[in-house]
Amino acid sequence: MRIGCPFCGERDSSEFVYRGSAREGAAQDFAAVYLQDNPAGPHKELWYHAFGCRSWLQVTRDTRTHEIFAVALAREA
Ligand SMILES: [Zn+2]
Repeated sequence: MRIGCPFCGERDSSEFVYRGSAREGAAQDFAAVYLQDNPAGPHKELWYHAFGCRSWLQVTRDTRTHEIFAVALAREA
């Protein structure tokens, strides 16, 4: 799978670290960590470009096909 970083361009997903669902709030953070939901279909996720520009990205991805519909900086999403 490849992720189009707004700064680095399209990169292999091995450069990124998946950080769970892109949701806000402590209760949702708890749910994301401890109540691992696994939705089928388009889903907003938080990814960290650990081996690149170290940006937090919100990736909208289809969990069934791995097709990526949108990538935005997490702070702007
Ligand atoms: Zn990057």
